[in-house]
Amino acid sequence: MSTAATESHLRENPFELATAQLRRVGEVFALDPNLIRVLGQCKKAVEVSIPVAMDDGSIEVYQGFRVTHNIARGPSKGGIRYHPDVTLDEVKSLAMWMTWKCALMGLPFGGAKGGVVCDPKALSPGELERMTRRYTSEIINDIGPERDIPAPDVGTDSRVMAWIFDTYSMNKGHSVLGVVTGKPLSVGGSLGREESTARGSLYCIQALSTKQGRRLSEYSVAIQGFGNVGSNLARLLHNEGTKVVAVSDSRGGVYDAAGLDVPTVIAHKQEHGRLEGLANADAVTNEELVELPCDIFAPCALEQVVTEANADRVKATVICEGANGPVTPAADAILEDRGVLVLPDVLANAGGVVVSYFEWVQGLQEYFWREDEVNAKLHDIVARAFEEAWITRESRATSLRMASYGIAVERVAEATTTRGLYP
Ligand code: NAD
Repeated sequence: MSTAATESHLRENPFELATAQLRRVGEVFALDPNLIRVLGQCKKAVEVSIPVAMDDGSIEVYQGFRVTHNIARGPSKGGIRYHPDVTLDEVKSLAMWMTWKCALMGLPFGGAKGGVVCDPKALSPGELERMTRRYTSEIINDIGPERDIPAPDVGTDSRVMAWIFDTYSMNKGHSVLGVVTGKPLSVGGSLGREESTARGSLYCIQALSTKQGRRLSEYSVAIQGFGNVGSNLARLLHNEGTKVVAVSDSRGGVYDAAGLDVPTVIAHKQEHGRLEGLANADAVTNEELVELPCDIFAPCALEQVVTEANADRVKATVICEGANGPVTPAADAILEDRGVLVLPDVLANAGGVVVSYFEWVQGLQEYFWREDEVNAKLHDIVARAFEEAWITRESRATSLRMASYGIAVERVAEATTTRGLYP
């Protein structure tokens, strides 16, 4: 395996955290323990080995996963992660969160996730393509427009989705647009998909600002992670006049209390491949960034960033979870006690799967929408989900996370009960 020897970001077992969260939802919403036992497991987990001919003539064998958590409400949907620290339990937790996210948004999907243990930055384009095509071949009977529909996640992008689409289509003998979302526009992608996750986060922050009676220009934000989600969120918030005081990538971050000029930051990252060395900004570590003084902290990288070890030092009054699972349950409890509001992942980063749903629908109909239509429909869905979660939070006197997960789990439980247990 050509995986970099890094210290994993996973301090605790993510699947145990996800199932503990589910049990807590079961208690708060008084759900049938039999159902919680069913929903606490993944329907299917596939592990594959992926032999790849490397450029130097050697053969590397990578380990890959594809997990379906639940299909009670429709085909399963979820991203594919390429990262050295991917584990089966991480993929299972991410698949479970996808089930809740799709249900909260009212989409006709269940949850899935995939991953390959690799460092994509260390692979040449040819190696990456061969690995992606072989991984796709290994899971080809598990995916499909009516079965399970992958999308981008950490370390994968529209180029990788194009290879998955092509490999699947070559094997079927015709183009199958609905097999994967997050595709390039030239092969059936949707306008607005690239920035949709960040746009969904923006809509949540906008909805919150209305509740708080403040304008977006009155907030300051620190963003961890400068990939698809983090960089687009920085750009969109900057355009709204929000002060972006810090951003980071895996090497560390840059900070300016007066506010960064985000277009300059994006240009610097594009030119140098890193944020380090940005002029007129102080260097900060990713650990320091979590504790910076600001109104909103938006973790948009990996899981388990805010834990019981640092939750009492977070200075932001709002955490917007652009990433999946960045706040652990133990940290959640500390933040709630301190009055820090968490916009949970299943709500705050759901924009991506909503526009993925639109891409899937457009692909099945072979009829494509304008970008303003996509964004307007996205806004409708995210704003409605935010309002439902907000009302439930107040009526149940619980956290926004519990409220969001509760609405979602109740919907999946209802579909499961209505369908009945087979046989
Ligand atoms: P990406 O690969 O485009 O970007 C990841 C970013 O995180 C990069 O800037 C990378 O340098 C940085 N990073 C990696 N390790 C880090 C570390 N230890 N500390 C700080 N930064 C680190 O990935 P993405 O698609 O932007 O996904 C980010 C998060 O958002 C993930 O949790 C993902 O599951 C979630 N998410 C993504 C989408 C989507 O549509 N892409 C949708 C919903 C949720």
